[in-house]
Amino acid sequence: MTDGPLLVFGPRSIDYDLGPMHPLTPRRFGPGIDLLRAVGARPGLAPEPASDAELLRLHDPRYLAAVRGFSAHLGREPGWGIGPGDTPAFAGMHAAAAAVAGGSLRAMDALLRGDVEHAFHPGGGLHHAMRDRASGFCVYDDPALAVARARDAGLRVLYVDLDVHHGDGVEAMHADDPGVLTISIHESGRTLFPGTGFLRDIGRGAATGTCVNVPLDAGTSAGAWLGAVAAIVPIAAAAFGPDVVVSQHGADSHAWDPLAHLRVTVDAMGAAARMVDAVAHRHAGGRWLATGGGGYDVYRVVPRAWALVWLAGAHRDVPDATPAEWRRRWADEAVRYGQAPIPTTFADDLGEPGARDVASASAAYRTALRARAAVVPALLTEAVDRGWWSPSGAGSGGAAASPGAFAPTGGGPAPAERTAVEILDPFDRATLDRLRLDPRVIAPLDPVDAQAILAAALDAEALAVAAVTGDRIVGLALSMPGRPSGSALLESIDGIVPRTAGGAHRIVSIGVAPVFRGAGIASLLVARLVGAADARRMALWAAVGPGERDPIEPLPIDVRRSAAVALFEGAGFRVVASPDALDARTIVGVRPAGPS
Ligand SMILES: [Zn+2]
Repeated sequence: MTDGPLLVFGPRSIDYDLGPMHPLTPRRFGPGIDLLRAVGARPGLAPEPASDAELLRLHDPRYLAAVRGFSAHLGREPGWGIGPGDTPAFAGMHAAAAAVAGGSLRAMDALLRGDVEHAFHPGGGLHHAMRDRASGFCVYDDPALAVARARDAGLRVLYVDLDVHHGDGVEAMHADDPGVLTISIHESGRTLFPGTGFLRDIGRGAATGTCVNVPLDAGTSAGAWLGAVAAIVPIAAAAFGPDVVVSQHGADSHAWDPLAHLRVTVDAMGAAARMVDAVAHRHAGGRWLATGGGGYDVYRVVPRAWALVWLAGAHRDVPDATPAEWRRRWADEAVRYGQAPIPTTFADDLGEPGARDVASASAAYRTALRARAAVVPALLTEAVDRGWWSPSGAGSGGAAASPGAFAPTGGGPAPAERTAVEILDPFDRATLDRLRLDPRVIAPLDPVDAQAILAAALDAEALAVAAVTGDRIVGLALSMPGRPSGSALLESIDGIVPRTAGGAHRIVSIGVAPVFRGAGIASLLVARLVGAADARRMALWAAVGPGERDPIEPLPIDVRRSAAVALFEGAGFRVVASPDALDARTIVGVRPAGPS
């Protein structure tokens, strides 16, 4: 292990040059790498071009040929997203873009070999490039290629995109893969390129729920932005349980950035980077590749943003002041490009928050919570909101530390292991303490965390029924006090819940360990839970959306939905489409208290 993240930078990094007037300028590497050196980083990996075979993992062969053509003949007819405008042709374009991809790929290889724990490639993060088209200054999609490399090694990947622009290329290239969770926090597509990444875009097919978009209004403040990151990244990561984390740290969300309209500070960016570092350690054995991205205030913002990412990965404190020598070296150039004076600290004071900041903070938080409700299991949301468990901070690291985290997905014990199960009803805290919860029965993926949440739930009036074999809990149905919120929802279920004398319980989790699935255990558990509720004169209800899924082997969303409808209807629930949910396939099941 080194003294900090492996810093990816070399002579070829400055070859990615879209022209003297272009905002994505290699001039940023001057003050940027200089400041990284000043805080203790040393370049340790010089990017070399990725091979054609490596680029073809995600890019179209005709597109590669076209980029090569542009490299040699700049005057070619515009096409493939290349031409005057955002992504102009330049001499050596193919080799320069391939080297950016090569830098991120070699950094991922170093992580996969275990040579380093963290790597940082400030020249990477070209997240808009598509399979067969350049877009938004990006030719080859180095973060998407690094994600694919990790997938080919059998690992499940969390991708966090903090650039002010939607991480559309990475999302599109891994949209069908439930083994990749992409989270993009960005300025809304209503006001900014590329015009995509809306709240309702949560993925498709079996991968529904593995794509998260948090679009923020123009003017969103630093605190609001960081609050949104904190509300979604740690909890979504816990539910998913990645083996490796890739992140994109575009510095263009900053208040001074000339191309976008958020009001983020470098200190908020640094705090977000520390959050990503914590997620990598808690869930992914520390494996974390960070890249740069956009960022067009290249003297005042980009160098400090990069230094803060590297310091986060080095687990070092942030110095109070930026080095005076560093400021002196770049002062004249900063003046020449109208980006002076260079700040003396690693924090930005944008003044007291005004009314607009307060409004933007609550809007950003609401947006993040809507994204959370759509993609995170109800049990985790309840556990966080009720203070039973925190997805951030130190954790057990149990799943990440076990070699099983590297096992290819699928498989599992042979059906012969499907021994007879016993239903424990009621299932109480004392019983739980004598048993151990199988992985993938309830969220999150780490069974140690899941068992801790279950213990807190049972301490707090939850009702549980369990399927047990030996000392293993292999199935569980769990409910807790709670009424549905939202007037539309109450209307749609004819006020059944408010009229019930014994109150209402929400079913927050029904799960069965993989090898025991398909044997009717879930139906049995729900029937027993219904019996327990009837005995207490309680109504039961549940909302089931894309968040309720097996993170390792999720079924197609329509299959998940039909299975949930059949399960609840079979137990006498009235099932309707949820009128309040972000995703139209979310269902609500309600059952009034039966005769006692
Ligand atoms: Zn770390």
